[in-house]
Amino acid sequence: MSTNLELEIKAKMTEFEGKLLSSKTLKEVLSLKDEYLKKYVKLLYSKLKDIKAAEEKKLFGKSVNDFKKHCEEKIDIALNKFNSIEKKSEYDVTVFKNNIKLGCGHPLIKFYKKIEKVLMGMGFSVVQGPEIELDKYNFEMLNIPSHHPARDMQDTFYVSSPNVLLRSHTSSVQIRTMEKISPPVQIISPGTVYRVDDIDPQHTPMFYQIEGLMVAEKISFSNLKAVLIRLLKEVFGEETGVRFRPTYYPYTEPSAAIDMSCTQCGGKGCRTCGYSGWITVLGSGMVHPNVLKVVGYDIEKYSGFAFGLGLNRLALLYYGLDEIRKFYENDISLWKQI
Ligand SMILES: [Zn+2]
Repeated sequence: MSTNLELEIKAKMTEFEGKLLSSKTLKEVLSLKDEYLKKYVKLLYSKLKDIKAAEEKKLFGKSVNDFKKHCEEKIDIALNKFNSIEKKSEYDVTVFKNNIKLGCGHPLIKFYKKIEKVLMGMGFSVVQGPEIELDKYNFEMLNIPSHHPARDMQDTFYVSSPNVLLRSHTSSVQIRTMEKISPPVQIISPGTVYRVDDIDPQHTPMFYQIEGLMVAEKISFSNLKAVLIRLLKEVFGEETGVRFRPTYYPYTEPSAAIDMSCTQCGGKGCRTCGYSGWITVLGSGMVHPNVLKVVGYDIEKYSGFAFGLGLNRLALLYYGLDEIRKFYENDISLWKQI
């Protein structure tokens, strides 16, 4: 065999091994198989025909066969390796990363987080409580006597007996908290509440509420006003108008309903606000002395305020939606827009 051909096969072998070593995919290995085992070996066999000397022909044939065998072995190993890697990659989520449809946060949660951030910035901490509640925490200890209309079977879901119910507000958490700790108390209690109600564009039997409570020495109505005006302006914008109207709640005295200038018409009057320019968004008041007494607080020393808001209703105004049911329809395209 001529030295030139021998050197060429050696050089090809080195070149093949270098390329195989740097191959990163099954496709690249298959391409090497085509280049070296098919095309190049075919070329070598064609050269074999031109060699006349028997001994030289024999030696060259052996070199070609050695080259072919060596390449086949190396390629088989590489094919096995890449086959198993690419089979496993069917389960590698990053392979399809460009096709994944991303979800988004639920608008109620996003809106709640906005409110929570403002109130936590003012020193409130978040407290949770049970949704299945005892009558004493939901009504009795909140100065809601047995004859109060809110206790009527029409409004409240009772679970197993007149003493166990699905909480109709998260004020029950305020009582549970005050039972455990002494003033100062500064908490919000967010969560689901339940009231017997037909489902319509504005009502659902389960909705979300945030109640707030602050009890300490020298807490006055001014503190209540400052906190709630700040909250509404932070969430809805500095231009938002806020007004307080006297009202009645059994657990606060005095009590105030809080109206906010209409988010849809800016106070000019529209269908959303009943053409008044105002929308009632919060209930509030100074904690009734009976409520402080029942948890053992000294009413000569401590006073406090409480407030409650329906998250769903407020979120409707914030997002400019017309139906509370939209929050439960899982329309992700709508949620991504708002
Ligand atoms: Zn309006």
